[in-house]
Amino acid sequence: MNAENSACSRFRIMLPLVAWLKYMDKDGRVRMKRRWEDNIRRVTPYVAGEQPREEGVIKLNTNECPYPPAPGVTEVIRNFDSEKLRLYPDMDASKLVDALAEYYKVKPEQIFVGVGSDDVLALSFMTFFNGDKPILFPDITYSFYDVWADVFRIPWETCPLDEEFRIRKEDYLKPNGGIVIPNPNAPTGVFEKTDVIEQIIKLNPDSIIIIDEAYVDFGGESVLPLIDKYANLLVVQTFSKSRAMAGMRIGFAMANEKLIQYLKDVKFSFNSYTMNMPSIEAGTAAVKEDAYFKEIVGKIIKTRAWSKEKLAGLGFRFTDTKSNFLFVTHESIPAKEIFLALKAAGIYVRYWEKPRINNYLRITVGTDAQMEKLVEFLTNYIKEKKND
Ligand code: PMP
Repeated sequence: MNAENSACSRFRIMLPLVAWLKYMDKDGRVRMKRRWEDNIRRVTPYVAGEQPREEGVIKLNTNECPYPPAPGVTEVIRNFDSEKLRLYPDMDASKLVDALAEYYKVKPEQIFVGVGSDDVLALSFMTFFNGDKPILFPDITYSFYDVWADVFRIPWETCPLDEEFRIRKEDYLKPNGGIVIPNPNAPTGVFEKTDVIEQIIKLNPDSIIIIDEAYVDFGGESVLPLIDKYANLLVVQTFSKSRAMAGMRIGFAMANEKLIQYLKDVKFSFNSYTMNMPSIEAGTAAVKEDAYFKEIVGKIIKTRAWSKEKLAGLGFRFTDTKSNFLFVTHESIPAKEIFLALKAAGIYVRYWEKPRINNYLRITVGTDAQMEKLVEFLTNYIKEKKND
């Protein structure tokens, strides 16, 4: 073998070896990742409730409203002139902002609208939580908060709720980079009175406090009147629950003008035209139909009381929910078993395999007919279980 040949064959042997070594980690194990994967923002995404494809399911798993949107909304959608869609929408969604400002008796400059309150909350995390200290939120809460914190690399800490799933306000006195509290809380439905929230705000003058009021219309009380008193308070609400428009994706925040301006600056540095034309039109129509809004909220509260009474008779216990859902546990049957039995019967509710709440079910309040079917199924199921 001449020198040239031997160099060549050595090269042929070395090449796969070098390639192999590139994909070994420091312990000699094969790296499953490619190098370009080192630069990727890796996250564990939020898991939303299931949206079943099959027809006929009783869907009580994502806190949607069981009633249609206001008649004015249907009219707007039906009559929407699709020719208009060639243009970009109004990036300030002024029509909707003005309607909300009039309804809630605040200035238009105190309102920010987004594509669902998830959009508003995500942008708020990005805008307001940029410190080194951890942001605080309850240990049992909306499971999107830690996901946003991770995706934006915001340090976070949870504050344990007490045995009754209530906030312990003293937990929110430690140094923090911001606070998020859903009120009523999800998935517990527990509501904290304004004075509890106000004390937390008052004791944290250097942090932005976000109160997520997605469910406030079902018997809670908004802290909106406090936005003129505390410049660091942001109140977030949604059209997805009490205004029966989850499919339209409309959420909004209300705060002091300065906070809203900061939020807009970030939003317009990210994506200007987020709210589409039909959403702006339909959302405006919904705000103007107050009587319908009050009627459906009233119906849900009534059905909630009926459902609680029936479920109590079947051995369920629950929190004092002020939301459009119940948070229930059974005296003898594990929640997971009930969840699976309900699912097999085409009744979808929500269950989390998480510490502290893994023996609870969250059941959205549906129509009377849906709740009657739920109660009927559970009555038979529990009877059979007892006979086993
Ligand atoms: N906050 C809480 C506490 C929620 O439960 C939800 C609904 N999943 C949202 C915000 C977001 O709702 P949407 O984006 O539909 O407004």
